[in-house]
Amino acid sequence: MDHIISGVLHFQKHVFPEHQALFDKLANKQSPDVLFITCSDSRIDPNLVTQSAPGDLFICRNAGNIVPPHSKTTGGTTASIEYAVAVLGVRHIVVCGHTNCGAMNGVIRMDTLGELPHVKEWLGHSRSAVEIVKAQCSEINAGQLRRVTEENVLQQLQHLKTHPAVAAKLATGELELHGWMYEIESGDVCCSDGANRVFEPLQQYYHSLAAKRSTA
Ligand SMILES: [Zn+2]
Repeated sequence: MDHIISGVLHFQKHVFPEHQALFDKLANKQSPDVLFITCSDSRIDPNLVTQSAPGDLFICRNAGNIVPPHSKTTGGTTASIEYAVAVLGVRHIVVCGHTNCGAMNGVIRMDTLGELPHVKEWLGHSRSAVEIVKAQCSEINAGQLRRVTEENVLQQLQHLKTHPAVAAKLATGELELHGWMYEIESGDVCCSDGANRVFEPLQQYYHSLAAKRSTA
């Protein structure tokens, strides 16, 4: 913990003064363009990976970057989504999974989660990802971790569409969904909109998307 405390002191003394104007601007208002939903995993830093600043990303994190389908039950993720979309008016939602995800390992091996009832119940929102990979590969094991993680991102994009605030903005074209997969070992990001289940390198993905739109 010591280096965390000295980090705060360093921030206050050296970093904050350098960005005083930005913090002044943000003091009473935020208007992020992106809701970024990712895993709680300590190895992911959304602002570092996207080279963005305070105020740019409204970030929602949980084990497995899961979005529970809309229901009458209120949870932190659901409330964050509703607020980001309906009040802040974000134009984009990114669901970002990552390689070597412990939560997705847990989904593959649900039988090992007996002592973790809350984790087990929470990861139940990702079961469809396992079932999809199982249907395509006949058996499921740790070797399919990446595929399960990618399918999980796509499943959570589907779940997002069940949220009324999201559905309404999608219908009017005011909101766009993005499925990302971050590779811890390389820094690469691959993307998919779920249409063909394929994840492409980020640059290629957004290049083709822009080309498609310019010819539409
Ligand atoms: Zn994870």
